[in-house]
Amino acid sequence: MTPDVRDRLDRPPRVYADTAQPASSPVPESAWRRAVQLISQTEDIALACHVSPDGDALGSMLAVGFVLRSLGKRVAASFGDHDFTVPRLLRFVPGQEMLVPPADYPAEPELMITFDSPSVARLGLLGESVRRAHQLIVVDHHPSNDGFGTLDLIDPGAPATAMLAEQLIYRLGGSLDRDIATCLYTGLVTDTGSFRHSSTTPAAHEMAARLVATGLHTDEIARELWDRSPFGYLKVMAAALDRVVLDDGLVWTYVTRVDRAARGLPYSELEGLIDVIRRTDEAEVAAVLKEDDQGAWQVSTRSKGRVDVAAVCAALGGGGHHNAAGFTSHDSVEETVAKFRELLREA
Ligand code: AMP
Ligand code: MN
Ligand code: MN
Repeated sequence: MTPDVRDRLDRPPRVYADTAQPASSPVPESAWRRAVQLISQTEDIALACHVSPDGDALGSMLAVGFVLRSLGKRVAASFGDHDFTVPRLLRFVPGQEMLVPPADYPAEPELMITFDSPSVARLGLLGESVRRAHQLIVVDHHPSNDGFGTLDLIDPGAPATAMLAEQLIYRLGGSLDRDIATCLYTGLVTDTGSFRHSSTTPAAHEMAARLVATGLHTDEIARELWDRSPFGYLKVMAAALDRVVLDDGLVWTYVTRVDRAARGLPYSELEGLIDVIRRTDEAEVAAVLKEDDQGAWQVSTRSKGRVDVAAVCAALGGGGHHNAAGFTSHDSVEETVAKFRELLREA
């Protein structure tokens, strides 16, 4: 019998079956137990993710937020950007009613949990709350994260923070419903590049299976994330492609705020541009310099595997992963590229 569409829409939350548990992680069992204990004894919990949130940061944070709320907790979730806007492509992610602007965020949280942030610096305006938090749980997968929490739940082998978020949810006795699954799937599918990146593990696919079983509309999520943009994006992309440079294994281009202003395009719409640039066969490394609204260059870099761009970006004050990293520059385009290239040669 074919299930009725309503059945697909109204499927009840799923409880984990014994055969469908998240895979184990290098996080010790004692740390998970401590996290559950801290959460169960605290009523007000402050959640945070890194600035300019991506799908993994926002999705992991809001997924856990849903579960904490179902446990009767009061939840405040935020990210420390000055303009505090969720990128247009993430507006479909459920749970955004939990978001509070940095100005209204608890100054001294009893318990704060950070998601997908490798450092205090990447928490932007929420850094002061981090320093004052009585207890701080750090949930992350960045290899560069050396553990700034009072309790660290870090797995550098996990392809997405969403996988650690799922573990936490499971250990809290939470169940997956479609909202939570949408949040987690957004994190998983963005950080694995739709399961294309080499970081993708069997556990990532197993997790996807659990999430899809809640009745997720994976087609709609994919369209929201990658298959739509305002018309102005095409024009800005055309300008960026027109001045793309291929030189000695590096392919790069840039987008100024003037380019964007001419088309009314917000900064966050540029996220997909690097995926167009990095396809270049002749290049091992790709970079896109994106001028933000404050006039700083946010540089996205990608490697095909031979070069560790995380190390190169770290030398320039940024960070990230072996094949996907970034840094911020206040120099000119030419100086920024020259410095990056110099470090690439050494790498
Ligand atoms: P993106 O190019 O923005 O998709 O970022 C790729 C990776 O680099 C992500 O894992 C980010 O956490 C990291 N990253 C990007 N920009 C910065 C930055 N300014 N500082 C530190 N890490 C960054
Ligand atoms: Mn991230
Ligand atoms: Mn991530």
